[in-house]
Amino acid sequence: MKAPSIHVVNLGCSKNLVDTERLYGDFLTAGFRVADFPEQASLVVVNTCGFIEAAKEESVNEILDRVANRTEGQKIAVAGCLSQRYLDDLRKEIPEVDLWVGTYQPGDLLEKVRSASWGLQPECASTNRIPRLLTTAQHFAYLKVSEGCDRVCSFCAIPGIRGGHVSRTGDEIVQEIRDLHGAGVQEAILIAQDLTYYGKDLGKGHGLAPLLRRILDETEIPWVRLTYAYPQFIGDDLLELVAGSDRICKYLDMPLQHGSERMLQAMRRGHTRQGLRDLLGRIRSGIPGISLRTTFLLGFPGETEQDFDELMELVEETRFDRLGGFTFSPEEGTHSMTLGDPVDPEIAQDRLARLMRRQSEISLELNEEKIGRTLKVLVDGVAEGQSHRFDARTEFDAPEVDNSVQILDGDCEPGRFTEVRIVGATEYDLEAVVV
Ligand code: SF4
Repeated sequence: MKAPSIHVVNLGCSKNLVDTERLYGDFLTAGFRVADFPEQASLVVVNTCGFIEAAKEESVNEILDRVANRTEGQKIAVAGCLSQRYLDDLRKEIPEVDLWVGTYQPGDLLEKVRSASWGLQPECASTNRIPRLLTTAQHFAYLKVSEGCDRVCSFCAIPGIRGGHVSRTGDEIVQEIRDLHGAGVQEAILIAQDLTYYGKDLGKGHGLAPLLRRILDETEIPWVRLTYAYPQFIGDDLLELVAGSDRICKYLDMPLQHGSERMLQAMRRGHTRQGLRDLLGRIRSGIPGISLRTTFLLGFPGETEQDFDELMELVEETRFDRLGGFTFSPEEGTHSMTLGDPVDPEIAQDRLARLMRRQSEISLELNEEKIGRTLKVLVDGVAEGQSHRFDARTEFDAPEVDNSVQILDGDCEPGRFTEVRIVGATEYDLEAVVV
């Protein structure tokens, strides 16, 4: 008899994606097959996001869609941040769902499926444990170094969903990177809610810099990328390590959320505008050529045009290489709900549009400065619909959110590094030929 199959619909951030990959690992180890499409699966799992309004809506719509398109005998389970946050309400509102669980706990959903006596019992389990099933391209992988967050940012519901900060051990992380590299992964993207807080709960001698040193010493992974850094605990040891290694990408994703003193205080970010400027200056001088990515939040309660001007000054001064923005979403249970009405959504959208317009100009100027340079890139794949062209990324670009390099000429292989010369630039992409 064919083994039962599972398909997971993943929503939200890369941390949720790692949970989805681990979920697949649990079920594959138990002998389930993976169904490529939801309609083919014995069990469909919707791994939801519950961070902000738009994400919650997307998750609910996906659940309703699964219920409406359920195939004969198919079981539907819901997991992730939305169900972690609203379990009882959702269970009442969408009774058609067969099983509700919260955020990923190793083996938890599998145990519940087993004890649900739905008859989804594979005849034989896998002979070895499968920790996770990569759902990204096979040459890069997200690597969660911790779960949860101890910070108190006014607008953020994550600590209430994912709990307090818990670091994984260095041994676990190093072993996972070794396994991933052994499976062909060339780029390990370190993720967390708060990357720079790594190890603070593990005692003396633990931290992001010591972890990176172990990764460099005990693995051969060619590229390590740092994302979701919080603008704190970025010591000279970390800057020197990144500056001194060609295996740690000259890249730092550090969401700043705002640039005005008043807004940073209201958001309870725990640092000052001047503190941010000093930190950005230290990073730029400590790691020459680093690509700085950040994210800003517009329309927070009380934000004035003066506050927006201060943010734009920081953008002009720092000239971020990569920048994303979103508008404030009032989240129940967060401190921001006590701070009065958000800014008129139209004004917030207008500020976001002005910010992104200026950023596209800065991004074009910075990209044009790369024309003529020879850079190492990781080839992500064949460009869509163009068999002789390839998409790649430099160390200055994370997958899915940043720029790509379109290789116009020359042979290269997906999942492999190659050297290219930059021959053209647009706001958010580069053009290159293989050298
Ligand atoms: S650092 Fe702030 S914004 Fe980020 S997850 Fe923690 S509380 Fe939320």
